[in-house]
Amino acid sequence: RWEPTDKAEVQADREAYFGKNLKLSYSNPAMLVRGWKHHMFDEWGRPYLDAYNNVPHVGHAHPRIQAVAADQLKRMNSNTRYLHPAQVAFAEKIRSKLPDPLNVCFFVNSGTEANELALRLSRAASGAKGMVTPNHGYHGNTTGAIDISAYKFNAKGGVGQADWVELVEVADDYKGSFKRDDPHAAQKYADLVGLSIASLQAKGHGVAGFIAETFPSVGGQIIPPKGYLPAVYDKIRAAGGICIADEVQTGLGRLGDYYFAFEHQGAVPDIVVLGKPIGNGHPLGVVITTREIADKFAEGPEYFSTFGGSTLSCRMGKEVLDIVDDEGLQENSRIRGAELRSGLKTLMAKYDVIGDIRGMGLFIGVELVTDRATKEPATDAASYVINRLREHRILTGREGPHDNILKIRPPLTIDAEDIDMLIGVMDKVMKEVTCLMG
Ligand code: PMP
Repeated sequence: RWEPTDKAEVQADREAYFGKNLKLSYSNPAMLVRGWKHHMFDEWGRPYLDAYNNVPHVGHAHPRIQAVAADQLKRMNSNTRYLHPAQVAFAEKIRSKLPDPLNVCFFVNSGTEANELALRLSRAASGAKGMVTPNHGYHGNTTGAIDISAYKFNAKGGVGQADWVELVEVADDYKGSFKRDDPHAAQKYADLVGLSIASLQAKGHGVAGFIAETFPSVGGQIIPPKGYLPAVYDKIRAAGGICIADEVQTGLGRLGDYYFAFEHQGAVPDIVVLGKPIGNGHPLGVVITTREIADKFAEGPEYFSTFGGSTLSCRMGKEVLDIVDDEGLQENSRIRGAELRSGLKTLMAKYDVIGDIRGMGLFIGVELVTDRATKEPATDAASYVINRLREHRILTGREGPHDNILKIRPPLTIDAEDIDMLIGVMDKVMKEVTCLMG
């Protein structure tokens, strides 16, 4: 029997065997050994509503994913140096979801690796090194990806900001410099990019590109005002740079109304980065770019990844995208997301600690504040809420520079009954936190 049942023992061993910066969620960590759709089960078989995990996009333990993995592993698993129909079939499926001229695919093993490759592509195409990126973004855990991830390089003990990276203010129209009531907020946020471009040029780095989580997620589930990205992209392109959309958190139908977040903005990036949900748990990342950029990159050394684009990965990735279509999961995300936001709005009318509710589809943020006028972050309240929800066996998380934004991001299979349950339990927990805050 490989499944360990003694949670305390597993936790003690984990502390002995791994580094201290491998973090666990919740003050009472959960040990989860099974999953089904949007539920997980602990060592006692108790169910948890998974309202947090965006990796099992089409649901935990999906039978079609199990079947395709087993089928391919029975046949063989190899790399891109041989022809295989699964590779082109996966690429064709991805291309069918993207506008022209985004039609050349690179397969890698993670979101991090995809962003590393996106950096190399933008340098090859622009001949420059400088990058502009919104503050508090996250693009991965390798040396290069950390350099463009303010969330990590600016953290306590972080490596600090590289001189070829310029940060711009996040286009947060709730608490940033330009608010929702300002009809020119999008343009004003975009104008800040002009200053960064000038600074990179003055330092002699030139502009390789702009990279952003299309809707900043690590920054707190933020939806930039419509028109922000097209205005930014115009400036970056005028300076010779490449526009990279990190759609790891926002892509593949999660937003309900859109398959990709850049569609909401009315912008077409030069490079799109996909990760996490596209493998439904299998390590997989994809970079899609234009023929022109891919050709510039191809003037350099051969591109090869041992596991990137493996036969197994390609079959699993295509199956995930097919399931999203076959099961109408983008539409489910739209409907369930609307129900969830409407339920949360009734809570907002009752509890002042909720300062803002935002999101699209099943990409939702609930910002907790100690005072609605000053928008002071209610960090302790957010910690209390996610831990109490966990006690009720509902998994959520929190994000943002002050960790005060509740993040709700379930697998796209979530149903109406579980949305009701989530709202009902949140009602109780918000009441508790309101009493505690006095
Ligand atoms: N980009 C974004 C927006 C992410 O959220 C993440 C992971 N949280 C990554 C990149 C890195 O992906 P991975 O952990 O698969 O390397």
